[in-house]
Amino acid sequence: MFTIQDYVVPGTLEEAYGILKAKRNNTILGGCAFLRLGSQRIGTAIDLARLNLNFINEYEQTIEIGAMTTFRDVEISPLLKEYFNGLLPQAVKHIVGVQLRNIVTVGGTVYSRYGFSDLITALLSLEAEVELFKAGRVSLENFLENGSAKDILVKVIIPKTAKKAVFNSMRNSQSDYAIVNVAVSKEGDRWLLVAGARPQRAQIAKEASLYLANSSLSSEDIEHAANLATSELTFGSNMRASQKYREAVCKVLLKRAIGEVLACE
Ligand SMILES: Cc1cc2nc3c(=O)[nH]c(=O)nc-3n(C[C@H](O)[C@H](O)[C@H](O)COP(=O)(O)OP(=O)(O)OC[C@H]3O[C@@H](n4cnc5c(N)ncnc54)[C@H](O)[C@@H]3O)c2cc1C
Repeated sequence: MFTIQDYVVPGTLEEAYGILKAKRNNTILGGCAFLRLGSQRIGTAIDLARLNLNFINEYEQTIEIGAMTTFRDVEISPLLKEYFNGLLPQAVKHIVGVQLRNIVTVGGTVYSRYGFSDLITALLSLEAEVELFKAGRVSLENFLENGSAKDILVKVIIPKTAKKAVFNSMRNSQSDYAIVNVAVSKEGDRWLLVAGARPQRAQIAKEASLYLANSSLSSEDIEHAANLATSELTFGSNMRASQKYREAVCKVLLKRAIGEVLACE
C-alpha cells in the first residue's frame, strides 16, 4: 500500500504541474489502481479531479479523450462505439471487470506506457497523439519510444479518420493480462499492424504494414504480412508465455484481425 504525506486538489493545470515539479516524490493520482499495488512513499498526492479532464469530445477533425476519463467511460461511449468499428470500447471491455474499469484512467495508463496495455495498442493503430502539459503535443508513437520528463498527460487526441479497425488479444484467463494483443487498422490502402504485450510496449510493424498496402490481399499475402510482422518485431518471455509462443499467437491474431478488417468494408 502506498503512503501519502499531503493531498491536494489543484484548480488549474499550472498549479498541478508546479506542485508535481516541486519535489521528486510528488505524484499525480489517476484512478490509483496501479499506485495501490505498490509501496511508493508519496510526498504530495495531486488529484486532478477539479480540472474537468473527464471527457470524450468530438471535433471536426479529432476525437479527444481527457486524462481522467475512465475505461468504463470509453467502453460505453456511444461516440467511440460509432468510430473505427468500436475499436476502443472493444480494447478495454475485457480488462478485469466493471469495478476496475470504473476506476482506471486513460491518463494513468497512457502516461505510464505499460507494455501490457490493451488501450495503448488500439490507440497506436489510430495514430493518436498525446498532449502533455509541459511538453505539448507529440505522437503516441514518439511518446512510447522516448517518454518525457516528469509531466502531466492532459488528453489523448485521435484523428477522426474513416479507419476500419479491429482489436484482438489472447489471455490465459479472462482477468489476466494479455499474452499478446494486436490492433489492425485500414484506411484506403493504408494499413497499420500493431502488436503489444510482447511483453514490451506496443509497436507498429512498419514493413508488414507497407507490404500489405502494396499487396493484392490474397490469403498468401496476409500470411506473408503476419510472418513479416513477427519477424520485424521482437518478442520476449515472461511468466505468462515464452517468446516462441507469443510469436505464434501474434501471427494468428494478426491474420484474423486483417481478415476481420477486410470483412468490415
Ligand atoms: C489488477 C489489475 C489488472 C489490470 N489488468 C489490465 C489488463 O489486462 N490490460 C490493461 O490494459 N490494463 C490492465 N491494468 C492496468 C489498468 O488498465 C491501468 O492502466 C492502471 O491501473 C493505471 O491506471 P490508473 O488510472 O489506475 O493509474 P494510477 O495507478 O493512478 O497511476 C499510475 C501512474 O500514472 C501516473 N499518472 C496518473 N495519471 C497521470 C496523468 N494524467 N499524467 C501523468 N501521470 C499520471 C501516476 O502518478 C502513477 O505513476 C490492470 C490494473 C490492475 C490494478
